[in-house]
Amino acid sequence: MKREQSEQLYKQALEHIVGGVNSPSRSFKAVGGGAPVFMNKAKGAYFWDVDGNQYIDYLAAYGPIITGHAHPHITKAIQTAAENGTLYGTPTELEITLAKMLKQAIPSMDKVRFVNSGTEAVMTTIRVARAYTGRTKIIKFAGCYHGHSDLVLVAAGSGPSTLGIPDSAGIPNTIAQEVITVPFNDINALKQALERWGEETAAVMIEPIVGNFGMVMPREGYLEQLCQLTRQYGALVIYDEVISAFRFHYGGAQTYGAFPSAEAIEPDLTAMGKIIGGGLPIGAYGGRKHIMEQVAPLGPAYQAGTMAGNPASISAGIACLEVLKQPGTYEHLDRLGAMLEAGIEAASKLAGIPMTVNRICGALSTHFCDHPVTNYEEAKDTDGEQFAQFFRLMLNQGINLAPSKFEAWFLTTEHTVQDVERTIHAAEASLKEIARR
Ligand code: PMP
Repeated sequence: MKREQSEQLYKQALEHIVGGVNSPSRSFKAVGGGAPVFMNKAKGAYFWDVDGNQYIDYLAAYGPIITGHAHPHITKAIQTAAENGTLYGTPTELEITLAKMLKQAIPSMDKVRFVNSGTEAVMTTIRVARAYTGRTKIIKFAGCYHGHSDLVLVAAGSGPSTLGIPDSAGIPNTIAQEVITVPFNDINALKQALERWGEETAAVMIEPIVGNFGMVMPREGYLEQLCQLTRQYGALVIYDEVISAFRFHYGGAQTYGAFPSAEAIEPDLTAMGKIIGGGLPIGAYGGRKHIMEQVAPLGPAYQAGTMAGNPASISAGIACLEVLKQPGTYEHLDRLGAMLEAGIEAASKLAGIPMTVNRICGALSTHFCDHPVTNYEEAKDTDGEQFAQFFRLMLNQGINLAPSKFEAWFLTTEHTVQDVERTIHAAEASLKEIARR
């Protein structure tokens, strides 16, 4: 497959845009470098690049595109919004409509506020939790990504119960000292951290179903215990549902049927983004009334935004949820997900290349290893070189995956059985080739 135009554009991009990309995850650095593919058209489950090559897309823009690219219902909503003016700086009725839809689907949120990205949503939940509790420390989980604000770009220190070290230059140690990172799915590690810092902890922040070191479910009873322990110390539970909201069913991970009791795992605050904007920039956070009333203009915690709640993003979000609400949506995603999972597992066995496939509904992750992946350490302990080869072999057969072994594959409502069959054939050929090399 030739990609000369992409290579040309990458050269130009490098001259004008730092690293040639506007988000580092788009670079091919983690899969051996070189020019990323420059796409110029997307429709349904497909992408076309600037050289005219077609791809089946499993990136789904890192999650938001759950109804496929350029879905007619969403496109129409955006057109209408554009014709009526894209930005008012005043409240609109549309915002109430989307807020109501979110609240109905995720009842732990009495009040909602719209922002422009997942990063902003998470960042603000932390501020609100600090304002509400009067405490400063945050406990988070290794490998969970919560956007690029200072506090959450902090990695674990040298042990499970140490203060954090900055994950990025430009973050003061004084900020990193406010963050404790513990391993996911290990309740004792959380217990230890709370025993030591519980009285100073404003919140425990978690992806209730992980999407950032592959797809990982919490162990049975883990979220229940996490909520109970956190509250014992008077800290708040924050769920980062930026990936998980509306991903596995019409609601959040917190209301997903796989958990026996929605009440026992209910968070105090929830951050969202991605899907709820139907492909336009959005974020939202919400929670119990008495906690959300910390936020300006009612309370002392300040948060604002010129673009927040803009009619285009809100209209796209409403339209996307309307599509998702149709009967059969998640059954379709689950059915295709199961097919893909079984196909990849069979191909891995046939080729003799060990793989672990984690799948939840229409989201899955493929790890090159012969052990389960239930936490970040296990996800790191997988063969990155094999993943890089797999990624490129798939790309050259017209299958677009995320260029990182930690990212998930996302199915959309527009993928068909034929698309999945083609993908499985490509995986068989790719894995055979890896085994041959
Ligand atoms: N939280 C989670 C769980 C995410 O996966 C992401 C982005 N991948 C974010 C927050 C940040 O969202 P955004 O990129 O919209 O700022």
